[in-house]
Amino acid sequence: MNKIQKPKGTLDILPSDIGLWQYIEGEVRNIAKIYGFSEIRMPTFESTELFCRGVGDTTDVVGKEMYTFIDKDGSSLSLRPEGTAGVARSVIENGLYAGAMPLKLFYLSNFFRREKPQAGRSREFWQFGTELYGSNMPEADAQVIMLADSLFKRFGLKNVTLRINSIGCPECRPSYRKALLDYFSQYESELCPTCRERLQKNPLRVLDCKSPICSGIADKAPKTLEHLCNGCEEHFEKLKKLLDDCGVEYIVDPSIVRGLDYYTGTVFEFTVDTIGAQSTVCGGGRYDGLLSSIGGPEMPAVGFGMGITRLIQALKDEDLVPNLESSSDIYIAPLGENASSFAFSLAQKLRNMGISAETDICGRSLKAQMKYADKTGAKFVLVIGDNEIAENEAELRNMRNGERAKICLNAETIMTSIKTEV
Ligand code: ATP
Ligand code: MG
Repeated sequence: MNKIQKPKGTLDILPSDIGLWQYIEGEVRNIAKIYGFSEIRMPTFESTELFCRGVGDTTDVVGKEMYTFIDKDGSSLSLRPEGTAGVARSVIENGLYAGAMPLKLFYLSNFFRREKPQAGRSREFWQFGTELYGSNMPEADAQVIMLADSLFKRFGLKNVTLRINSIGCPECRPSYRKALLDYFSQYESELCPTCRERLQKNPLRVLDCKSPICSGIADKAPKTLEHLCNGCEEHFEKLKKLLDDCGVEYIVDPSIVRGLDYYTGTVFEFTVDTIGAQSTVCGGGRYDGLLSSIGGPEMPAVGFGMGITRLIQALKDEDLVPNLESSSDIYIAPLGENASSFAFSLAQKLRNMGISAETDICGRSLKAQMKYADKTGAKFVLVIGDNEIAENEAELRNMRNGERAKICLNAETIMTSIKTEV
């Protein structure tokens, strides 16, 4: 029979990798707590309209990459391609904006985009994301940037670069948009078909195009920073000062414009050069108009999304994956039927005390059991036969250092002697 394979662009996270995922998730939760962000979990699918209005239908994410389906009642639903729109919907629907402000939320979720799978890019992927609502101050931007920065530092990553930019607000964007349109129109015939199409609708998108010809032309395009209004300029200067004061290094990079429509003002990315073409591990910025665009009150917001698989690659490249053991504390190897039931209940007594204990449940020979204990990395092994049961004593082997010691076959005694070692 044909083997069934996982869908293209998806990922099996196997037991051999799960320790690393859990370590990352643990650090993410720690840093979120340190900065006072609470976890939120949203539905895996939402109404398609939420993403069309919230993220914008001129974006690749919504225009081309979304998994959309018609439900049995005729409504259009989409698997979430990102987290910000869903959180915004939830903030409105649950009236969270009426609570303590600023509202600081984070999520650790999977997202879905029908992209061309390649290193650092899959169709189902995971993000750690933050959303800070209720402050239009540069301090709020600095806070979310510093949260991401602290997380990278906690992991010990050295090759991470923070790039910041400002893409202006509804006041200064129109003049910049016009300058961009004038500039790109000169090269219209050279642009890729997608960019030619989006030029009129959203010329900022051209700055984000990955095709070498478009990005070559975009290199010399007018820079947003030269078109900022006073308010946006002041905001950006203050952000830089806050980062300087806290010793957070960054570079101002006018090519950062981000791929989603909702951004206004500050935008930023953290990039890692070692991980290849998909070098952005974290991207974010301010989206002051998002909440009102999907039916909520006017409320400023800032946040980011961090790609977990790209983060993992960065950790591997810098050799920062900790030695994570998931092996059992003790393997009890019985010899014979009597010993087998004795071992079975001894293992259970130990588990009830919080020790991870294993014993034979396959009816294997002692040799095969020892092989299993070795393969799975059990820290201690206790071999029990009829003689040991009669004497109420057996040899406890420390598999890490080879030491052997006689021990009374009593669960408390065993627990005490292995607890001092593990
Ligand atoms: P890119 O330019 O790499 O496509 P993006 O602008 O689409 O990124 P965002 O939507 O801002 O990315 O998502 C934030 C982060 O989530 C990215 O910086 C990246 O680390 C991660 N990410 C986005 N899309 C994918 C994907 N298809 N596979 C793996 N990680 C992804
Ligand atoms: Mg993308």
